[in-house]
Amino acid sequence: MKVPMLDLEAQYEPIKDDILTAMKEVFESKRFINGPQISELEKSVAEYCHCKHAIGVSSGTDALIISLMALNLQEGDEVITTPFTFFATAGSIFRVGAKPVFVDINPKTYNINPDLIEEKVTKKTKAIIPVHLFGQCAEMDAINEIAQKYGIAVIEDAAQAIGAEYKGKRAGSLGDMGCFSFFPSKNLGCCGDGGIVTTNNEELAERLRVLRQHGSKPKYYHKIIGGNFRLDTIQAAVLLVKFPLLDNWHEERQKNAEYYNERLKDSVITPYVESYNRMIYNQYTLRTPHRDELQEYLNESQIGNAIYYPVPLHLQDCFSYLGYQKGDLPESEKAAMEVLSIPIYSELIDEQQDYIIEKIKKVTD
Ligand SMILES: *Cc1c(COP(=O)(O)O)cnc(C)c1O
Repeated sequence: MKVPMLDLEAQYEPIKDDILTAMKEVFESKRFINGPQISELEKSVAEYCHCKHAIGVSSGTDALIISLMALNLQEGDEVITTPFTFFATAGSIFRVGAKPVFVDINPKTYNINPDLIEEKVTKKTKAIIPVHLFGQCAEMDAINEIAQKYGIAVIEDAAQAIGAEYKGKRAGSLGDMGCFSFFPSKNLGCCGDGGIVTTNNEELAERLRVLRQHGSKPKYYHKIIGGNFRLDTIQAAVLLVKFPLLDNWHEERQKNAEYYNERLKDSVITPYVESYNRMIYNQYTLRTPHRDELQEYLNESQIGNAIYYPVPLHLQDCFSYLGYQKGDLPESEKAAMEVLSIPIYSELIDEQQDYIIEKIKKVTD
């Protein structure tokens, strides 16, 4: 049996006609830029994320960049984040001229450890970017408490967490701004690149909208410098077709996770979810000291898998100028050696899961 890491064909098949109709409408309207589907999507996402505003942008990475731009950072300002995340989280901090400051993770949830944040706050700290990794929210109460104490902004990197909840509140509504990605492998993916920023702050929303179009308001008049950060109409049209199915997809992922949990709990460390979190399982990430052996065997058995993430960001070559050494953030470094993500997509069937479980147990039991 062959099981892919993600089966976009299985997702596409039942909604093909609706997707093609929606795309055709865009072509026939010729409103490729700023078509009415954009604000329709923004309204739906804002509501879904319990936020007043949502601003469609060109990718999850650009959502992070434009959010940082909205804070008006100066050269040398510092932004605290986790090293155990996708590159874009820290890459965008560098790209707005600021300095990433890394804080180690909680080894159970893989999210930033709030107990280690305060000692890293300086006069230059302007923002904290917690990442809701794999679809589980970070410890937002503790993070917001520190942010409020020092007057620091909080930008949620919710790229993997649309619909995730923390104590009944939705990802994207837990900080000053929430950044989402519609990259095809996220729970809600478009047919290319896309993203969105959520906020409950009127002023920030207005700033984000202006920054998205070169800082222009009215057209051809620029008080601030922005960029081209627009979401394409065609992406919004595709997302509007998929959006009503999202909660169902989340539920299927949660069922698949439970199926794995029950059968793998004595063989590997299964994902730990805080009781007050709604985890949407963008990834199902297990942990074992036999990771490399397991990965090799899964590859041989044609089972899709991935290491998110093999090198924590503080040890990436491009960040060597920051001066971190091996051993500085031990939990992130250890996790990078032991984690493995396996297929969790909604369309996965029991026989596929049984096959994956059987192969995993061959290595670990
Ligand atoms: C996917 C992802 C991003 C970037 O999103 P893109 O749409 O690919 O630019 C940022 N942060 C995290 C945690 C991600 O998983």
